[in-house]
Amino acid sequence: MGLGRFRVAGAFMAERGKEESITDAEKKCHCRDTQGHFLDRAFERLHLEPAQCELLGSPFREVTISIPLTIHRQGGELLRTFSGYRVQHNHARGPFKGGLRYHPGANLEDIRALAQLMTWKTALVDIPFGGAKGGIAVDPKELGADELEVLTKRFSQKMAPVLGVHEDILAPDIGTHPRVMAWILEEYSKVHGYAPGIVTGKPLELGGSAGRLEATGYGVAYLSRVVAEELHCPVEESRVVIQGFGNVGSHVAQCLAGMGARIIAVSDSSGGVVAEAGIDIAAALRQVEETGCLEGLAGTEPISNAELLELPCDILVPAALEATIDCDNAPAIRARMIVEAANMPVTHEADATLRDRGIVIVPDLLANAGGVLASYYEWVQNLQEFPWDRETVLRRLKQRLLRSYTEVRDFAASQRVDLRTAAYELGIKRVVHAVALRGF
Ligand code: NAD
Repeated sequence: MGLGRFRVAGAFMAERGKEESITDAEKKCHCRDTQGHFLDRAFERLHLEPAQCELLGSPFREVTISIPLTIHRQGGELLRTFSGYRVQHNHARGPFKGGLRYHPGANLEDIRALAQLMTWKTALVDIPFGGAKGGIAVDPKELGADELEVLTKRFSQKMAPVLGVHEDILAPDIGTHPRVMAWILEEYSKVHGYAPGIVTGKPLELGGSAGRLEATGYGVAYLSRVVAEELHCPVEESRVVIQGFGNVGSHVAQCLAGMGARIIAVSDSSGGVVAEAGIDIAAALRQVEETGCLEGLAGTEPISNAELLELPCDILVPAALEATIDCDNAPAIRARMIVEAANMPVTHEADATLRDRGIVIVPDLLANAGGVLASYYEWVQNLQEFPWDRETVLRRLKQRLLRSYTEVRDFAASQRVDLRTAAYELGIKRVVHAVALRGF
């Protein structure tokens, strides 16, 4: 096959290069900087030796691959090569565990920081996993389902040597969904035999767990209710703003609305909608299903993502990307509490500003840990070859999350620190202990 058939890369790459603005480049460093900042604070408080800090801050392994894909379009075929990543941060407490994201901005630095966050998260909620993260720099909306399948299977083939049911287990994240997990399962099982435990968040028919799809969002909602009550703001009287209406954001909205909260604004990447009287979440879900966006939802007004974050409310839930709350908009945030459904939605500078302003932040490594907890339960069910019912999964998830929250809250109070500092310290301490016991 001659290359003449393809409109090859050069022009396309040039277009992509132009698209990346200075802001994108700055944002790329955000995860690394924010994670580094939170980590340094915890290391200092834990009085760790420099050598220990270096070990804990370093990933165990990083893999970068190129994935060629022929894309079929009306004008002919286009050969593109996508970059894929998997960073395995630490496995002192159990196999590497973490999501796989498909997003055009996916890059090694962010994935490295997100992998590390997973290590502290799994330790904080005390499940026998380490931390990892992966991604492909691709906009999944640009590809057809067949193309996405081929891309996913090629990623799985090339990554296979470092994956395994007791080695590294993947899960959905931004831009990926149960079907993507099914493709990975299929590819991996070709070589290793039927191995449902290689991925979590897979379809129920293939060994997925009841309750996994909604677990992250429901966990965010459970914690929001508890923290709101402690702030003397019962959830039934709360006004809630949610940025991001994908898997996590939409389930937060459904669960909080079910508890009686008033969801006054929601958004996705195309923009948001606001209604002071409250949004009909079931209607919003139907509309997204039918049209792919929230725009024009009956009974609502349009609002930009930037304006949405600054709405006065009781509970603000960032459930989209990293760094959505930064030093520019932090002074304008008018929420009583922020529950970080997304990973690293608040930069470290914004974190300081918000703390100074008395806004309570439930940090990502606690707030969205319902996802990895349900993933753990799914993995256990796969190993046992014995499925649990939804009620059991969600009951255990709720108990474990609330236990972790109580630990963090009490530790924060005893040390006179914020919830994030306490959560990092508790998670890191467990990893340090495991590393010391294993002696590597
Ligand atoms: P998703 O792809 O299902 O949804 C992402 C949502 O964010 C979409 O509605 C998208 O339109 C919206 N979005 C993207 N860019 C935006 C922007 N600039 N402004 C406003 N909205 C924007 O992804 P998800 O699984 O819901 O993940 C969301 C966040 O939660 C991510 O930070 C992810 O790492 C984190 N998280 C997910 C899980 C999980 O189980 N899926 C677990 C823990 C943490």
